[in-house]
Amino acid sequence: MTNFQNPIDPPEIVKGWIDNKVHHGKGKEIPVFYPGNGSQVSVLVEDTEDDIDKAVESARRTFDKTDWSKLSVEKRIEVLEACRQVILDNIDELALLECLGTGLILREIKGFHLQRAAYNFRFFAQYISQAHGERYDNTDGYLTLVNREPAGVVGLIAPWNAPMALATMKIAAAVAFGNCAILKPSEQTPFSLIKLATLLRDVLPEGVLNLVNGRGPVTGSSLVSHPGIDRISFTGGTVTGRQVMSDAGKQLTPCTMELGGKSANIVFASADYERALDGALIGIFSNNGQQCLAGSRILVQEKIFDKFVEEFVQRTKKIKVGDPLNDKTEIGPIASKQHMERILSFAENAQKEGDKVLVGGKRLSDQKTGFFIEPTAVLASSNNSKVCQEEIFGPFASFVPFKSEEEAISIANDTEFGLVSYIWSDHMPTIMKVSESMRSGVVWVNTPMMRELRAPFGGFKNSGVGREGGYSCEQFYTEEKTVSIPKTPLNLKKFGDEL
Ligand code: NDP
Repeated sequence: MTNFQNPIDPPEIVKGWIDNKVHHGKGKEIPVFYPGNGSQVSVLVEDTEDDIDKAVESARRTFDKTDWSKLSVEKRIEVLEACRQVILDNIDELALLECLGTGLILREIKGFHLQRAAYNFRFFAQYISQAHGERYDNTDGYLTLVNREPAGVVGLIAPWNAPMALATMKIAAAVAFGNCAILKPSEQTPFSLIKLATLLRDVLPEGVLNLVNGRGPVTGSSLVSHPGIDRISFTGGTVTGRQVMSDAGKQLTPCTMELGGKSANIVFASADYERALDGALIGIFSNNGQQCLAGSRILVQEKIFDKFVEEFVQRTKKIKVGDPLNDKTEIGPIASKQHMERILSFAENAQKEGDKVLVGGKRLSDQKTGFFIEPTAVLASSNNSKVCQEEIFGPFASFVPFKSEEEAISIANDTEFGLVSYIWSDHMPTIMKVSESMRSGVVWVNTPMMRELRAPFGGFKNSGVGREGGYSCEQFYTEEKTVSIPKTPLNLKKFGDEL
């Protein structure tokens, strides 16, 4: 049995970050584990209500009493570019810390997650250099301008599955539009984001980026419920999202919600078969299968169903699961023991409920310490099966056959979620009809994943509220103010004067 090494010597204790200084929270100590060997590697000091008060005071002070929110666009672009450079200059250490928290494959962290994290800052630098406003002239002689002003103090809540890539989208947008931010990473994966906050102390003035640590129902909920917060940007599960929106609603705090998914990956007989097969494997097994946009329900047209499923299973059997530090690894560990057990329970129940486990479904037999499972595929008895309706959030695919376009559309939309749909076909009328019929915020045609940051990203139905992306973020992280000015003095009604 192998016991994989920690990627990096872990920090003994993880604390918060307020006013560009380490902050020792008032709450309890929470253990943090490395998913690759299951061992406790550190403790995190939880921030409680008093600590959130301090973080909000600090951010408020900077927002209200310094010139941060009024910086020129040129200066703000310099700040964003400097943040990007900090990530690139520290990419090795940040990557190892991200791996320590998440168990994601180091090669992918360096090659994708951190490149994206750095690019998020460049993207918003480019975006604000092009930002333009609205003006309206009217025949009564008024000029009306629409100003976009920073929203204020924003709370950013990030999940554990891609901490750097997802949280930096929020941080970069908050900074680009002149806000002060308080970030709460998942308590399971604090290492890379606390390191980033520390590294940014030479670039961001104190109070612009504070970071609080702790569990969602304690630290997260105190942040969301705080009356000094002007926006909440949340990425996480649908159940948590409902709670967060309800807590924020008490203060009428606007929220964006990037939530879960159970996305349909629809493969038509008219598809480029090999590309569709590759795409289906990438769609479900990338990022250790732990991604909101995973193509987890694979719908395949009957004519090619048996062959496609058989080849998918054969390829799945060859996937290399193991040490996230090994360059050859394709799937690493699941992020926590509790999550691993939850995924495995779907495979156990599937058989009882009439589904058929085609491959996988077990913990890796030579790996009893790390949280490794066999990549799994199930033939669902129908789309009503649990494995087709619940977000499993792991390397776990469910197959369902369909006959016609109409049936594919009906099955694909038969879910509470609506984040992404994948369509594989070389027949243009099919592509047009099916993409227009999808009840999802994003449709990918003949490609497994394509995130265009200028375009909105987010979900229909229970997959989200609001969107992230260039213009969507501009709207969310700013307040609109309408200013009307007469171009020449107007004749006003003289109250109290003789008529
Ligand atoms: P959770 O919903 O469990 O947690 C998300 C974040 O919210 C964590 O930081 C968590 O803290 C925090 N949190 C939990 N409870 C509360 C609360 N009451 N108030 C405030 N904050 C709270 O999601 P996971 O971390 O398990 O992430 C996986 C989920 O995220 C999946 O459903 C996935 O689909 C979704 N996701 C969506 C994306 C999208 O863009 N649509 C992208 C990536 C993931 P802690 O963990 O410390 O308890």
